[in-house]
Amino acid sequence: MATTHRSPAAETARAVDPAQPLAPDARHLHRTLINAVIATGSVPSVVELADRLGTTQEAIRAGLTTLVSGDYLALDATGQVSCLYPFSTTSTAHAVIIEGQRRFAMCAIDALGIPAMLDEELDIDGRCVVCHAPITLRVRPGTIVMAAPPTAMVVARRDETEPAFAACCPFTVFVCGQEHADEFMRRIAGTHALPLPEALVHAEQIFNSLFTEAIPATRPRGKRWGSSRDA
Ligand SMILES: [Zn+2]
Repeated sequence: MATTHRSPAAETARAVDPAQPLAPDARHLHRTLINAVIATGSVPSVVELADRLGTTQEAIRAGLTTLVSGDYLALDATGQVSCLYPFSTTSTAHAVIIEGQRRFAMCAIDALGIPAMLDEELDIDGRCVVCHAPITLRVRPGTIVMAAPPTAMVVARRDETEPAFAACCPFTVFVCGQEHADEFMRRIAGTHALPLPEALVHAEQIFNSLFTEAIPATRPRGKRWGSSRDA
């Protein structure tokens, strides 16, 4: 369809090119959603979002579609936001304590990325995926300040051909130590054990720019574990 002037909708549609920055409207919606999850643990309704941002419900739905295309969020079967990387809107085994409130990360790597994203020292309250033993971490950007047990690790899976929430998040988890890392890796193909400091480096590469003014049209997902593809 030919048009002689660029509408906001056309600008939004162009934003799915990963080389382009995310369109400003979608960027603003994304930041509003992240701030809402940090403040309340949940995502406002389309009606509330339209009211808060002074726009129409149609514009909000179009913005959500752009953010799904860019892998910034996923919607459940009813159209509600179920995942807003790094956050989950339902409880998971990886809680991050933000201003005294438990907020849930989609996976262990996402949990480790939140302190850098917010530029704050935060506690992470996790569990070993194999034995369910508690795993407590204190993380400041760039540093694992404390890990209990000190043998705790991350086991991670990457698959760039499927959405992260299906392919990676359920298999990117904390384990209490090498023995349970080995057990989980035997169960789930394509997983790799990462010491916490190495997992933190990967997490910060993905999430430390999520709060900057311009973000790419497609969410960065970091490197494929165990390969030099992105080196
Ligand atoms: Zn364990």
